[in-house]
Amino acid sequence: MSAKPIHIVGGGLAGSEAAWQAAEAGVPVILHEMRPVRGTDAHKTEGLAELVCSNSFRSDDAQTNAVGLLHAEMRLAGSLIMSSGDANQVPAGGALAVDRDCFSNAVTARLEAHPLITIVREEVTGLPPADWDQAIIATGPLTAPALAEAIAAGTSSDALAFFDAIAPIVHFESIDMNTCWFQSRYDKVGPGGTGKDYINCPMDKEQYEAFVQALMDGQKTEFKQWEGTPYFDGCLPIEVMAERGPETLRHGPMKPMGLTNEHNPTVKAYAVVQLRQDNALGTLYNMVGFQTKLKHGEQVRIFRMIPGLENAEFARLGGLHRNTYLNSPTLLDPTLQLRSRPGLRFAGQITGCEGYVESAAIGLLAGRFAAAERLGRPMTPPPATTAFGALLNHITSGHIVSDDEPGKRSFQPMNVNFGLFPEIEAPKVDGKRLRGKEKTVAKKKAMTGRALADCRVWLGLATAAQAAE
Ligand SMILES: Cc1cc2nc3c(=O)[nH]c(=O)nc-3n(C[C@H](O)[C@H](O)[C@H](O)COP(=O)(O)OP(=O)(O)OC[C@H]3O[C@@H](n4cnc5c(N)ncnc54)[C@H](O)[C@@H]3O)c2cc1C
Repeated sequence: MSAKPIHIVGGGLAGSEAAWQAAEAGVPVILHEMRPVRGTDAHKTEGLAELVCSNSFRSDDAQTNAVGLLHAEMRLAGSLIMSSGDANQVPAGGALAVDRDCFSNAVTARLEAHPLITIVREEVTGLPPADWDQAIIATGPLTAPALAEAIAAGTSSDALAFFDAIAPIVHFESIDMNTCWFQSRYDKVGPGGTGKDYINCPMDKEQYEAFVQALMDGQKTEFKQWEGTPYFDGCLPIEVMAERGPETLRHGPMKPMGLTNEHNPTVKAYAVVQLRQDNALGTLYNMVGFQTKLKHGEQVRIFRMIPGLENAEFARLGGLHRNTYLNSPTLLDPTLQLRSRPGLRFAGQITGCEGYVESAAIGLLAGRFAAAERLGRPMTPPPATTAFGALLNHITSGHIVSDDEPGKRSFQPMNVNFGLFPEIEAPKVDGKRLRGKEKTVAKKKAMTGRALADCRVWLGLATAAQAAE
């Protein structure tokens, strides 16, 4: 065992899990948490792994839900966050919800009691010093300003976003391609493109006017006090653009120029909504220019008015909130290590995942990678077919970087979802292809079965031969 510790900055969901994983692997850990010396705009206690808002870890269904699958994989990996969550559950139907104080107390107590973990209550104000040769920064979306500035300076000026406008992301298979068509504006091929890079949804005048009215009438979320920052990159929410005049959107993100509807080439669309491929697998598409602060239920209702999106399933809905995250696909290697500074890893929401469970999962991976490196063991990233691997790939490599909106960063935080997994055929039943909902459920079950089998092999809990049985 090495006596040299791994330093972890931030004792939130990710930092707590990373500390646990590294210590359980036999490596000493020093965990630096600034609360209660310095607070954040959202945390209220000095407990580790405090849940700042909802008390839900979302669905616990490991067969047909991607976050439920992530729960299952984390349990297999001996997760502190999951075992403390399981021990402090409150009734919540199919979801795993927890008593937030008991949960945080349990995580704190187990970390404090671990013989290899030392907790230091202090703010870290700069990048880890050189003698912290193995370190993990897990300071979350509300990273204290001095450290955030040091990270920005130590990476590149656009490395951190301080205010975030996110547009919805749609599952490709839920888009009606009998209404929509693939085409880039003016058939431009551009670098790495084909001339057919966008999905286009056409609107006639009546549809456009009804849509603009719905945007203006839709219920919006109110900004919280800590959200008093100007719009990121000057990109306005669509409902704010709609309020500026009925034609604004038609001359902005919904302009119909340079596009011909292949299903109806003689009729020019009055307005067009464009979606751009969001991941390398081509299973997810984001709505271009559709950042919004409409309430989530309203987004689903109003965006399903768009021709071709009547049955859209959303992998993520739009929103505007303060966030601090790295441009990870550029900056991090597949083991979450800063390419420009080996030995320094990032974990949690600051890497560009979203949510308590996802943040903890990335903490789990960072803790394991750092411990393996310290112990001189091989660091094999989890297979892409697992929820761990799907999420890690989104952060470090799977995302497609768009270069057609200069100055705007396309990598956006995301929850785990099935669109991040490699495709799988839905199994046939009695030799017959399934359809509709049955097919969707069968496909999800096939994906989760494959994921859990591959995860067991990755964790050394089963051999490949056993997993194939
Ligand atoms: C207002 C708000 C509401 C949210 N609501 C939800 C929700 O309902 N459900 C959900 O799933 N996700 C929610 N999220 C996202 C949530 O933050 C993440 O899911 C999760 O908490 C991120 O985990 P993390 O470990 O990356 O960061 P955190 O859990 O925030 O942990 C980061 C830790 O680092 C510490 N820290 C920061 N800077 C320093 C420093 N310089 N030195 C030392 N310590 C430092 C902080 O005190 C904190 O303890 C919300 C986020 C915000 C900001």
